[in-house]
Amino acid sequence: MIRVFRKLCESTGLSKSYVSKNATRIAFASSWNGNETLAEDDPEMWALLKEEKARQVQGLELIASENFCSRAALEALGSCLNNKYSEGYPGARYYGGTEVIDKIETLCQRRALEAFNLDPEKWGVNVQPYSGSPANFAAYTALMNPHDRIMGQDLPDGGHLTHGFMTDQKRVSATSVYFESMPYRLNVSTGLIDYDRLRETAKLFRPRVIIAGTSAYSRLLDYKTFREICNEVKAVLLADMAHISGLIAAQVIPSPFEYADVVTTTTHKTLRGGRSGMIFFRRGVKGQDKNGKPIMYDFENRVNAAVFPSLQGGPHNHAIGSVAVALKQAKSSHFREYQQQVLKNAQSMAKALIRKNYTLVSGGTDNHLLLVDLRPRGLDGARAEMVCNRVSITLNKNTCPGDKSAFNPGGLRLGAPALTSRNFKEKDFEQVVEFFDHAMSIVADVKAASGSKMKDYKEYLDSNSVILDRVEKLKIDVNNFAKTFPMPGFMDR
Ligand SMILES: *Cc1c(COP(=O)(O)O)cnc(C)c1O
Repeated sequence: MIRVFRKLCESTGLSKSYVSKNATRIAFASSWNGNETLAEDDPEMWALLKEEKARQVQGLELIASENFCSRAALEALGSCLNNKYSEGYPGARYYGGTEVIDKIETLCQRRALEAFNLDPEKWGVNVQPYSGSPANFAAYTALMNPHDRIMGQDLPDGGHLTHGFMTDQKRVSATSVYFESMPYRLNVSTGLIDYDRLRETAKLFRPRVIIAGTSAYSRLLDYKTFREICNEVKAVLLADMAHISGLIAAQVIPSPFEYADVVTTTTHKTLRGGRSGMIFFRRGVKGQDKNGKPIMYDFENRVNAAVFPSLQGGPHNHAIGSVAVALKQAKSSHFREYQQQVLKNAQSMAKALIRKNYTLVSGGTDNHLLLVDLRPRGLDGARAEMVCNRVSITLNKNTCPGDKSAFNPGGLRLGAPALTSRNFKEKDFEQVVEFFDHAMSIVADVKAASGSKMKDYKEYLDSNSVILDRVEKLKIDVNNFAKTFPMPGFMDR
């Protein structure tokens, strides 16, 4: 009984006299107060979380869209901000008790404009989109009526699903269901965006919106040419900088803000915050009419209404708080150094691969990622990804220009942001390429021994004892290497 009493005092933090007077009420409440740690409350989930943490620490994370969020941003994400409803916008909410949330959202907006050096007279921002995809859909509904036309880079050519992807069989993306989408593509021989074809197609298709933005493209975008094409066909230029917003904030690659009308982004890729999305829009004076009267941009109300109440409900305030933290970090000199290192590391990885005779789409990289074309080696992305996954090298298969099928793509996408957040330098990326090359030799041997069927490949990979041995050895080497690097975030989760 005394032990129970002491435990109650400890776990509730209440005084002994208070506990003794209110024992029954506290004993009842304390079993329901939600103050148990995750480890106590849900050991099954806790074990899975530890397992995922170990995977992240021991593996080589090369997925170009991923990153390791800072501890500070994660703290905001896992906080009381999760508890609050605040439908509406600062100063105009549908719920009470939002005075602190108003300050948080306003701070996030201010920092978002500061991070990209934007004049609040000329640009506004909506920080409520739940992620990059809903940010895009809200931007589309703000700018278009149903079945208006939109052009974006085709998914197999490096664009994003939300830019309007469809196949012969199916309108896959909601963008292609609710709007009429027309893709533009790469020049197959150079691996670069074919701006001439884009211009020609735009003149025929007359889209309302053209998107400049990529998920798997290793070169810089020519925003000026996008702008010219948009002017020629009277389209709105929407830049989707989801992958590269961190590089842009650090000013290590060109910014779309000089040319774009609307800019969407995620916040968890190179920007390194919690998972969320943002929409920037031009505001203020657009120009003058014939009588010298100012013409104003009308994006602000349309974008805000499109996010809420049109598409979303309550803002994810924990995410907004976390994004604000990341945006403050984005103004620091550390952040700029980090992004410069991302570029150097991507270069180092590209050079090391070229030295080993790998083919890169477009021949190299100007940003944080690169695409390895495995077809000249007689290999493909799916087989390569499978082996990499078994040796703790995390990356993804990716289509290369000219690929016939998106289900059996010819290459891989490799990115530098996540490992750079773990303090990897150029030399470390050379070692990463050594491990990668070793994995590819396993891919080649398994493919040569198992023939053309994927099923046989997988069976051989999982049953041949010599191969299993090689995979296990390489995995141990990779794990031992990766473990020695620091990891941002919480030590234990
Ligand atoms: C990742 C990405 C998105 C979507 O972001 P989610 O947060 O995954 O919804 C949109 N556009 C581009 C270009 C992206 O790379």
